[in-house]
Amino acid sequence: MSEAKKQIASAPQPAIEHFDVLVVGAGISGVGAAYHLQDQCPDQTFLVVEGLESYGGTWQIHRYPGIRSDSDLYTFGYRFKPWVGAPIATRDEILSYMGEVIEDNQLDSHIRYQHHISAANWSSEKQRWTLEGTRKDTGEAVRFTSNFLWMCQGYYEHAKGYTPAWEGMDKFKGQIVHPQTWPEDLDYKGKHVLIIGSGATAATLAPAIAADCSHVTVLQRSPTYFIPGVNENELADTLRELEVDETWIHEIARRQILRNQAEFTRRAFEEPEVVKAELLSGVRAFLGDQYDIEKHFTPTYRPWRQRIAFVPNGDIFQGIAAGKASMVTDEIERFTEKGILLKSGEELEADIIATATGFNLSVLGGINFSVDDQPVDFAETVTYRGMMFTGVPNMVWIFGYFRASWTLRVDIIADFVCRLLNFMAAKGYQSVVPVLRPEDADMPLREWIDPENFNPGYLLRSMHLMPKRGDKPEWQHTQDYWLEKDELPKIDLEDSVFKYQ
Ligand SMILES: Cc1cc2nc3c(=O)[nH]c(=O)nc-3n(C[C@H](O)[C@H](O)[C@H](O)COP(=O)(O)OP(=O)(O)OC[C@H]3O[C@@H](n4cnc5c(N)ncnc54)[C@H](O)[C@@H]3O)c2cc1C
Repeated sequence: MSEAKKQIASAPQPAIEHFDVLVVGAGISGVGAAYHLQDQCPDQTFLVVEGLESYGGTWQIHRYPGIRSDSDLYTFGYRFKPWVGAPIATRDEILSYMGEVIEDNQLDSHIRYQHHISAANWSSEKQRWTLEGTRKDTGEAVRFTSNFLWMCQGYYEHAKGYTPAWEGMDKFKGQIVHPQTWPEDLDYKGKHVLIIGSGATAATLAPAIAADCSHVTVLQRSPTYFIPGVNENELADTLRELEVDETWIHEIARRQILRNQAEFTRRAFEEPEVVKAELLSGVRAFLGDQYDIEKHFTPTYRPWRQRIAFVPNGDIFQGIAAGKASMVTDEIERFTEKGILLKSGEELEADIIATATGFNLSVLGGINFSVDDQPVDFAETVTYRGMMFTGVPNMVWIFGYFRASWTLRVDIIADFVCRLLNFMAAKGYQSVVPVLRPEDADMPLREWIDPENFNPGYLLRSMHLMPKRGDKPEWQHTQDYWLEKDELPKIDLEDSVFKYQ
């Protein structure tokens, strides 16, 4: 045995704790998973392991000024916990809603914070997962075994956001920050802030800081669609005035919103030009006919190919109309000492540059997955409904929707997982893995999602790392809540797509 191996062999091994189900991540998905496990699988022991010091995931990590949801909380909230505030919510409101879910259901004792998982190995012989990780508060190694692994680790790298490498960045004399790691003490008062990016983050950040800054410039390579509107749900407010029970209001508001969204999605596909004109007239209402909407707010793609951010009260447009913020649509040539030189030759000066340029995709939380000690390359697996993977037993991943609230999928996948776990317990099965059936053998395998259908940058940059999809709905993440809400509950657990042991 080599010296290094001897040292590893003689190092004290952490005690192993076993749970029926291990959930990785305590964001909106992991907390939802915990709720449903407790509610629908009372006989299963479970633990949620979370790398951060608290719950919330995305809403814990992102702390830039103005951070808020871009979808309504009636549908971004869980179906089992009524949302009682304005539809678009701040980070603090979302965290306090999640905190209530944890407290009301005594989920706290099931969550271990500061536990970062780095490796997961499935043993076919033992029919269980072994997870290895580290306690971030003590540095101790931790080990768990579990029968089933429920991955709720999100879809992007949490430690740092995506910033392209531009020439001359090191020469810039001011400060460069990414919204994902926004310094709490960043002093932007009276300063000129240049935000690079045109997505929801830029649209939220700009109006939130504009009043305090000397000026905010939003620099985008290409425009994005926005939906300006009032941050209220008239129907829910009327029902509240009538003293209707909040549980009912939640359900009714969800149904109304989902019907409207389905209609909007249908129209975006069937009459994209009409929808486009409507969206642009919403912007024109704030900026007037003199403003160059064609240049700054007219995307080249058809509506709904990227997420459309709802802008409460058109605040970004109000900032522009008031002269506190301005849009520049151009490309970056390079950074300079004072700011950014554009391809057009213009130089934008700034004290602070915020790169709202998105995420780095992370497939399954950066965990080294192996099955019987053989590393798993997820790009070589085929996804069963965007939640399970061929060759990877007893594992489900929650990857939500792009065009509808993520949490809608948390609830319906949770129903599926709990039904599957109860079915397996009743039948005495220890493991399940999705397998391609004979009729699937010649199925063409494609990228995780069709870029013609949806094409955000973080996915396009890393699509090669994602599992493959087939050409049948069961071998795809269809991104279609309206289809899945009816199909998932009807999945036949005896179908030959599931191989049990
Ligand atoms: C700024 C912002 C706004 C958004 N707004 C919306 C919106 O309005 N509507 C919408 O539908 N979607 C929105 N999204 C998408 C959003 O990320 C999801 O909706 C949702 O919050 C994801 O929840 P999650 O629990 O699946 O993942 P996350 O929120 O990413 O949480 C995953 C958790 O898993 C933990 N974790 C990961 N890897 C490990 C590991 N190896 N070991 C231990 N723990 C680990 C992380 O620390 C994290 O706490 C937004 C995203 C961002 C960044």
